[in-house]
Amino acid sequence: RGGLNPSSTQSSGTEIRAGNLLHNHSVSPSLPSNSILIRTLATPINPADINQIQGVYPSKPPFSSLLGTPTPSAVGGNEGCFEVVSIGSSVKGLQKGDWVIMRSTGFGTWRTHALATADDVLKIENKEGLTPLQVGTVSVNPCTAYRMLKDFIPLEPGKDWFIQNGANSGVGRAAIQLGKQWNLNSINVIRERPSASETESLKQELLDLGATKVITDGELQSKGFSSQIKEWTASTKGDLKLGLNCVGGPPTLAMTKTLSQGGHLVSYGAMSKQPLSLPTGLLIFKDLHFSGFWVSRWSDQHPEEKRRTVEDILQMTREGKFKDIPVKELRWDWGTEEAVLKEAVQGTLEGFRDGKGVLMY
Ligand code: NDP
Repeated sequence: RGGLNPSSTQSSGTEIRAGNLLHNHSVSPSLPSNSILIRTLATPINPADINQIQGVYPSKPPFSSLLGTPTPSAVGGNEGCFEVVSIGSSVKGLQKGDWVIMRSTGFGTWRTHALATADDVLKIENKEGLTPLQVGTVSVNPCTAYRMLKDFIPLEPGKDWFIQNGANSGVGRAAIQLGKQWNLNSINVIRERPSASETESLKQELLDLGATKVITDGELQSKGFSSQIKEWTASTKGDLKLGLNCVGGPPTLAMTKTLSQGGHLVSYGAMSKQPLSLPTGLLIFKDLHFSGFWVSRWSDQHPEEKRRTVEDILQMTREGKFKDIPVKELRWDWGTEEAVLKEAVQGTLEGFRDGKGVLMY
């Protein structure tokens, strides 16, 4: 549970359990001059974190023997909010008490403390009015939604539309809210819930967030629904230019077919674990464009843009224009049972969940 240098003798250390092993880790007050000591405040459990543990994700966190495990180990988790506890003598621009997030994914955020360098982190310039949960979940889901709405095809405010599946996901909810802020019309596709009243209540929840329309997978795939969509887009004299794909598989084909001539489908998730197969005519005659988006790559390639995107979203959050995602908070402390953590991690890829698991420290 520590994340610093292991020591089996120091009684003031942080206890870490790895499998059946118990280690003590000292949180040393003397730091290398270019390092910062950070304390974790909140870290979400995102689907990609689980894929990474399963070994099916393209990037791996660095494995090392620093944690004193018998074989090299890595810490899970890719985003979070941290408080600076102390800084090395040559570190500039940071001070004790600042809140920071990771500049890139892959740091390993599920730990109580960590040693980092100033380059690893992005300082939250104004933490007033923000919670650790809001800061700890800003850099993956909201940034993904923000960039996908901005960077692929221009949408004319008030007129044009985007359509997305997985609309109740963290990314989906962010896209709905940003769409509302930027006056973009949205069609939001959700999976039908076990009962009609649950489906209606989820639809209402997303409408309250700022969705223009919310439909189910079944409605999208029903006969004649395309004329309904045409009616909606005609009513604003706009086009359905952008699709955001969280899911993959056959329902995504139905969504893709609704796009206007020259439209763009951006895929960022594959929650159904099914491939997307497309009739070639969509590319030839309808001139649809297909892209993928990966926030890790974007963050590494555009560090300054990332800082601006994060600041913009946090400003909307402060102003009450960007609401928290539903979460299931899990307190990470001495009493936290391993089974509870395991369940939270394992449940992340299951469907129909009430909220994303977030570890609070
Ligand atoms: P959340 O945990 O917030 O939401 C999960 C979503 O997936 C829900 O909408 C859920 O719908 C849906 N879902 C779960 N199982 C299935 C299934 N079998 N078929 C269809 N839909 C399903 O997720 P996030 O917003 O954090 O992430 C969503 C996806 O986006 C993930 O695949 C994640 O890896 C990816 N992602 C990619 C990024 C990138 O840079 N490319 C960045 C951020 C996320 P329901 O409630 O109906 O179960």
